[in-house]
Amino acid sequence: MLKILENIQLKPYNTFGISAVAREFAEIRSKDDAIELVKSGVLKGKLHLVLGGGSNILFTGNFDGIVINVLNKGIQLIEEHDDYVLVEAAAGEVWHDLVMWTVAQGWGGLENLSLIPGSVGAGPVQNIGAYGVELKDCFHSLKAIDLETGKEIQFNKAECSFGYRDSIFKRELKGRILIHAVTFRLSKRPQLKLGYGAIKQELEFTGINKPTVAEVSDAVCRIRRSKLPDPAITGNAGSFFKNPVVSATSAKILQNQYPGMPVYPQPDETIKLAAGWLIEQCGMKGYREDDAGVHPKQALVLVNYGNASGFGIISLAGKIQNKVLERFGVKLEMEVNIF
Ligand code: FAD
Ligand code: NAP
Repeated sequence: MLKILENIQLKPYNTFGISAVAREFAEIRSKDDAIELVKSGVLKGKLHLVLGGGSNILFTGNFDGIVINVLNKGIQLIEEHDDYVLVEAAAGEVWHDLVMWTVAQGWGGLENLSLIPGSVGAGPVQNIGAYGVELKDCFHSLKAIDLETGKEIQFNKAECSFGYRDSIFKRELKGRILIHAVTFRLSKRPQLKLGYGAIKQELEFTGINKPTVAEVSDAVCRIRRSKLPDPAITGNAGSFFKNPVVSATSAKILQNQYPGMPVYPQPDETIKLAAGWLIEQCGMKGYREDDAGVHPKQALVLVNYGNASGFGIISLAGKIQNKVLERFGVKLEMEVNIF
């Protein structure tokens, strides 16, 4: 029998470490728990939030509804072929544990996504990405429960409408489904992606010139540990803003004004700018207002130095957006989910 808890403090459930109280709270440990929750009718007429590891969320006040924490576990090989495998993972698995499991088998695909916090189930929601790889590159399908009907629905890759840190689950289906399992297609003959950020230098530095998936994963972990704040020590939700994508013409105008500005041409001829660089140019890197701050090593990450409120963080985010808009004419869109 599924238990609904009341008045639960959410501070341990979000990596920003923000205090907020959920009026109700349910733990989902299986697909059947999710179906029971919907069929019981307790969600009817209530605000609800499906929560994984809380590493991409900012609470700006108490949550006057029901938080549904997905905790189901299990990773299994479901198909093996000559050159690829299909692996299904329960949504409540820790993402990095899944990556480590696949890396240990020598299967390629997820190694560049090592050490991203959070759960497997949240991965497809924002099509997590790092070091030139996105979840969609290895995605096969997912299974979800419709939070209105309690029915199971399956989504293939095309049906997820994956985009840059984006999917149908962040837009049309926002809050309408609970993902309970995700299947990945991984390669038995990995094609490693090393040409992004500091991976190559890190491997060269350690004298590795023909890396394995495990060595790439280790390199990614080392780079991330050296640059990013550990939420266990300093509250944060990773990049607070998405990197803005602008037209080639707008990028050219900005480049004439700011010749040192990094630009990343996209396959559709638009240009991705580095939001962290734009924020830094506005003098905001390391900036702090009470306990809300901009990380001194990575300006894209907003941090809670201890007792910041969600309101404090969102006010700081607004200030950054205004400064970047004033100086560069570029609107920064938030990547973190605000509740
Ligand atoms: P939560 O924060 O719990 O939820 C995020 C969103 O997904 C919410 O809208 C929630 O409702 C929804 N959701 C969660 N679980 C489910 C489910 N089972 N079914 C349906 N909806 C669900 N992100 C990257 O893309 N790349 C990075 O490199 C990266 N690095 C990070 C580094 C740090 C230090 C931190 C703190 C964050 C980083 N992130 C990164 C952001 C974050 O880790 C990812 O977005 C992650 O996928 C969030 O997982 P979560 O389980 O914590 O999701
Ligand atoms: P970085 O390597 O210092 O790069 C800064 C920015 O430039 C990144 O945002 C990245 O865009 C972009 N970039 C760098 N090399 C690129 C290339 N060859 N082609 C296209 N774009 C390039 O970034 P970092 O902060 O240390 O992060 C490393 C990786 O981890 C990045 O992919 C980043 O997205 C990911 N990360 C994400 C989060 C999050 O919460 N979303 C948090 C930490 C790290 P992209 O961001 O588009 O890759």
